[in-house]
Amino acid sequence: MVNKRKTQQQQDVLEDLENPTRTRQQLPGWLQKQDLTEADLPYIHSLLVCSYSEWREDVDGFPWLGGQLSLLHPDGTCISAGQMEDNESNIASWSPDRIGPTAASTALETCRPTLMRAEEHQHFRLKAFDSIAVPIFTRTTGFPCAVVACLLPAGMAQAGDLKLLQAAALHIRSCIYRHFENLFVGGLLRERKLSMKEESRRDILFDVMRRLNDHIDVENVLSEVLDSLEQLYPICKADLFLSQDYNSPNEKVKPLAFHLNDMDLCKSAFVDGKIREDRYGGRHKLAVPLSGKQGVYGVLRLDLPESEFDEADISFLSMLAASAGAAFEKAKLHEQANILVGELRLINELTQRLNSSLKLSDTMQFASAELLGIFKSDFCCILQFDVDTQQFVVMSANVTEMLGETYSKDYGFCGVMWSTKEPIILSDYCSATPVASQLMDVTNSRSLLAAPLLLNGEVIGAVLITKYEPNHFSYDNYKLLQVLSAHLGLAMSNATLHAKVRKMVITDNLTGLFARHYLNERIGRKQLRDNSGSLIVVDIDHFKKINDTYGHQVGDDILIQVSGIIRSSIRDSDIAARWGGEELAIYLPLLGLEKTERVAERIRQRVESETNPQVTVSCGISEWRLADEKISVESLFYKADMALYEAKHQGRNCIVVG
Ligand code: GH3
Ligand code: MG
Ligand code: MG
Repeated sequence: MVNKRKTQQQQDVLEDLENPTRTRQQLPGWLQKQDLTEADLPYIHSLLVCSYSEWREDVDGFPWLGGQLSLLHPDGTCISAGQMEDNESNIASWSPDRIGPTAASTALETCRPTLMRAEEHQHFRLKAFDSIAVPIFTRTTGFPCAVVACLLPAGMAQAGDLKLLQAAALHIRSCIYRHFENLFVGGLLRERKLSMKEESRRDILFDVMRRLNDHIDVENVLSEVLDSLEQLYPICKADLFLSQDYNSPNEKVKPLAFHLNDMDLCKSAFVDGKIREDRYGGRHKLAVPLSGKQGVYGVLRLDLPESEFDEADISFLSMLAASAGAAFEKAKLHEQANILVGELRLINELTQRLNSSLKLSDTMQFASAELLGIFKSDFCCILQFDVDTQQFVVMSANVTEMLGETYSKDYGFCGVMWSTKEPIILSDYCSATPVASQLMDVTNSRSLLAAPLLLNGEVIGAVLITKYEPNHFSYDNYKLLQVLSAHLGLAMSNATLHAKVRKMVITDNLTGLFARHYLNERIGRKQLRDNSGSLIVVDIDHFKKINDTYGHQVGDDILIQVSGIIRSSIRDSDIAARWGGEELAIYLPLLGLEKTERVAERIRQRVESETNPQVTVSCGISEWRLADEKISVESLFYKADMALYEAKHQGRNCIVVG
């Protein structure tokens, strides 16, 4: 009723409300103009009840208060019937349909005060009474909003009684309007209070939404939500539970742990994505889901005294939670996008760096250092799988004990990855040790992140990263290492292939000794750095005959035998190469002529005694020194060649120093 009464005079109304003195002293015009309408009739029962009971208190001593008097609603309902309700007349309703016409029904119909004699009544119980009734009209619209009626013993009703009842009706009407005005003004005040509260909520919500949208990092969004709640509901206890594995420094932000006892409300709010309420022991608990477009991220739990909350608060809180959810999602996506961009940049840089060097040990050492930084870890170990020995070989590690170590393909975490081809993330080696690991033991590590290095689906190596503290690596780390290990695998395979090709290029196919160009290269470099060096040129005697006698195959085999003898007769630092045809050469860095001659002699003797079919060799030796006038590879070879020529001349199977 009251809600429909928003008029253009609202401003006047508000002024009057804010000036209570004036309202009390004189009834303002706008209020006098307010009236009941026919549309209000179904809602005025309680108004009539209050007004009538107030009137009865006001007119203590009025003649018919003993029970004969009734106030009736125009629909025939008895508002208060005193005795009439429960005495023999039982007039719960004065409806003429049920009891025939009475003074009340006639008064309503004719809109006039009515007196009806007992004999005019049709209902047998009313035959003992005269009835009198007076309609009560609304003050401006003038239709009856109630009727006051009275039963008097048959034949007793006088015209004066009707006058008395009219006076009572006027009095009752003034009571009705007093109540009506009270209600109206009360309604307006309530409405104003609500709208002010609503307005301030809207302002705050707008402000919060604006601020939420300003933030692009998750932590600020969370603080903003909690701060706004504190501002809005200062006595409220607010907690935010997040489902993500997100560690917030804000102590009010906690992980959503469903196993805890008091989390049922939050759990259902999280699962259904709807607000859940619980009123118990004078407290009102609310669980509001923090939802974004892609899912529910957490639950906001509020706990406050029951009286503090109304429906509008709940709808306000859902709006706040929806904005917070959207802002959280946006911030989270922004954060993820940043991480992805960072990871892509990292992968790009790492790949470029990995491919910039083709030397396997350099590449792996660089990768190892990078991985330590990326994953903020303590130890890193990169292993290569050697197909020939079927073992993992440590290529790079910042753990000295492990460098160069080999492990069987069944051992440790490498063994697990060898069979599963899957990465491993281990939160605590101490609490769960299904696998023995030298790396973990030696380094006292508890967290592990490991990935196999794959090439065409085959395990070609493995990378293991560890940290002293447990629970160090996240799932994001796991996924990142998976991506990085693909690049690392490729880099490892490239470097290995490159090393193989290079070896092929510098090695002579038949003898396994170095190729001539490599020997030239090495001697050239040595001559730049060293002070001296010597060269032995070895030529198989009458080799043509061997070929002619036994065939080329045997000739080849002799070449291999002689090469083997040479290889096992020299130091690691010496370089043996096939100089061409059946001529072999050995460069001995920093070795003097005397010692070189001894090496040559040993080779000569061993060839003579160890080859089958037996051959002999002639050797020419030359030497270079820093003091020489001209230092070059060519002159060194020229001198050795001359010495060899001399050896042949001297009858072969001998050594000549040039
Ligand atoms: P000498 O050096 O004692 O004077 O006699 P020689 O018969 O060894 O001399 P020559 O240089 O005339 O012959 C070298 C022969 O070596 C010619 C060639 O058929 C043979 N030869 C060169 N390279 C190979 C090779 O790779 N395999 C085989 N089986 N024979 C080779
Ligand atoms: Mg020759
Ligand atoms: Mg020869």
